[in-house]
Amino acid sequence: MSKPNTVSITCPDCGTPFEMEQWNVIHAQKQPELREKIMNGSMFLQTCPHCGTRVLAAYTCIYSNDEKKFLVSFQPSDKEPAATPFVPDYKLRLEHTLLGFFERIRILECGLDDLTLEMVRYLVTAQLSRQFPEKHITHLLFDNADNENVFFQYDSNNPSEQIQIPLATIWRYEDQLTHSGFRPNIKGYITANDKFVQESGILNCLIPKKQS
Ligand SMILES: [Zn+2]
Repeated sequence: MSKPNTVSITCPDCGTPFEMEQWNVIHAQKQPELREKIMNGSMFLQTCPHCGTRVLAAYTCIYSNDEKKFLVSFQPSDKEPAATPFVPDYKLRLEHTLLGFFERIRILECGLDDLTLEMVRYLVTAQLSRQFPEKHITHLLFDNADNENVFFQYDSNNPSEQIQIPLATIWRYEDQLTHSGFRPNIKGYITANDKFVQESGILNCLIPKKQS
């Protein structure tokens, strides 16, 4: 089991220095309490013992789930992770924002294929912004999935405003992707975002194959 580092931070409100634990490596199976904090988004929040102010202290963190075989690295700076761990068959993902880190983990914890989801998100976002230009939809944030649908937020000011995409649709795209034989030409970590969808060639799986 990984151990935390203890570091000192200063409360931005009252100036009191206090110590916090930093967990740079989290194993979902071994540390269910930390997994829970990731899932509810409270992972990097600290409370000042003097004035009670909640302080967001983000730091480099790797989250792995050995049952679902994925590993998500959070790097607050644009730096690449120091090394790609040797974990065959794992999905390796890199995120530079906390929002993205939590979201990526939620997607993969739901057992969804996140590259398929990224492609669907890209296509649906483009369609929605054409259909409803007045709503200024630029990004869909994955919220959750149940047995039938995947739910996305499209307005950060109104998280309860959601659109749902049937799981059956996601699976159909996943099928197409699998049958296309698409392999991202990236060794190590993938940052799955719009840029990835545009540049990786993943959209080619949607082009009908010519009969030869
Ligand atoms: Zn304080």
